[in-house]
Amino acid sequence: TVEVSAVPFHDQKGVRKIILVFYDITEMKRSEKGLKDFVANASHQLRTPLTSIKGYSETLLDNPPAKPEDGRFFLETVLKNADHMDKVISSMLALAKSEQMGKQLKLQPVSGNEYLERTVADVTPWAAERDIRLEVNAPDDAMLVMGEPDGLLHVFHNLLNNAVKYSPENGKITVTAQDDGESIVFCVEDQGPGISREHSTKVFERFYRVDENTIDSSSGSAGLGLAICRRIVRNFGGEIWHDGYGEDIRGARFCFRLNKPV
Ligand code: ADP
Repeated sequence: TVEVSAVPFHDQKGVRKIILVFYDITEMKRSEKGLKDFVANASHQLRTPLTSIKGYSETLLDNPPAKPEDGRFFLETVLKNADHMDKVISSMLALAKSEQMGKQLKLQPVSGNEYLERTVADVTPWAAERDIRLEVNAPDDAMLVMGEPDGLLHVFHNLLNNAVKYSPENGKITVTAQDDGESIVFCVEDQGPGISREHSTKVFERFYRVDENTIDSSSGSAGLGLAICRRIVRNFGGEIWHDGYGEDIRGARFCFRLNKPV
């Protein structure tokens, strides 16, 4: 997109001339649109639970239940929706922080192994509730990569949480780490419904969810998790993708690559 401004003037001989200045405003327009889309999406994500909170509270006020326990369902719904809003706001702040951080981030060698182990330990009890097994195939060494501890932990947590969330009961989640010389590639594979090719890159966009109805709105799922992961991994100079299409892959498979220190 180009914007033009014209400045008419007379030269020394009195001839009328015009200076045309061309501005390339493509980037500005793009970020303006990005901001507008973000605000629209964010408002929608917050307004839905808010409408529900208002509706249930008004109902309680207009028709006070005879017994306190009769009002319990209403209050639980209000709380569930407030929790959802809380999670959506936390995700938005995490995204804003990762976008802001990118500009001033000081990358350092961090141990992929340490943060992977920590995440697996955190997620295992939750996975065990539905008999989901986690299997890690990784080299024994520290697997040093260029990054920053909080961000790396965030990415592992997000991918593993999603894998558990979408896994069937008794499913298996396989986490692999592979050293390919200059970088380390981490992959998380589950046996859930997977992601079709048409959605495989879109799932990294902000607020994108394959099926709005698969997860009930109280789970705090706003479609921001993978957008945050992509931002963090890019801040680290790496890349992240979905590639669950091999013959022996049943569900989703997310991988990311981070550079090793030189
Ligand atoms: P959300 O907060 O909705 O989980 P994400 O950005 O983490 O947002 O994921 C975006 C969408 O990608 C999800 O809503 C879901 O449709 C899909 N998705 C993510 N991980 C998986 C997975 N392991 N299996 C199947 N679908 C997934």
